[in-house]
Amino acid sequence: MSKQKQLNLILLGAPGAGKGTQAVTISKKLGLVHIASGDLFRKEQESGSELGKIAKSYMEKGQLVPDEITVKMVLGRISSPDCAKGVILDGFPRTLEQARALDKALTAEGKSIDEVLYIKVSNKELLRRLSGRWICRNCQAPYNIVELPPKVSGKCDHCGGELYQRADDTEETARKRLDVYFTQTAPLIKYYTEAGKLVEIDGEKSVEEVGSDLIAVIRSKK
Ligand code: AMP
Repeated sequence: MSKQKQLNLILLGAPGAGKGTQAVTISKKLGLVHIASGDLFRKEQESGSELGKIAKSYMEKGQLVPDEITVKMVLGRISSPDCAKGVILDGFPRTLEQARALDKALTAEGKSIDEVLYIKVSNKELLRRLSGRWICRNCQAPYNIVELPPKVSGKCDHCGGELYQRADDTEETARKRLDVYFTQTAPLIKYYTEAGKLVEIDGEKSVEEVGSDLIAVIRSKK
């Protein structure tokens, strides 16, 4: 059997840029494991673990969970055997320290990040999207009451799960999360540009167009 090259991707962009929606599609199309740090934290909260309790106190204020905790959790997930074919990271890294820790851990295993797909969306549009967002409690597929409503109200199109609105999607917390993004995460654009890995995608097109632009970019570099 021929060994397929591993593909490790990062989806970069502000909260509400559409990373979750696109990551679900890309992971299915390319057979990559979708790792969303926010989902990992929410699962920890649901299980009532100590890590979940710590994460909750930061998440409900729209702040980042400390790097040390986040890096340990995500790197643990990346090193699982099911990630051998590659991963698509969604919501991680979110600080320069996380990006450096990720590079270091991958290099130590003879791996690397192949591409960073930066989904660019204006501030005004981000606020509008974040306030209308609903998520499937079961499979985490995101919906938007304005632009991506489910076929049946309150139910997930993919798995029939119940849709809910995240506690940190209120307008006040959304503003805070955007502030945090611009101060702590946006410097990653420069970091990955200098590494020659960043590709910018217009995130204000339709969900389908953004998806096909992303797939085209990934396939052209493979
Ligand atoms: P998300 O689902 O990606 O929007 O993340 C929800 C919340 O989880 C964030 O507002 C943070 O509080 C926390 N979080 C998720 N990913 C990270 C990360 N890479 N670093 C620190 N905190 C994170």
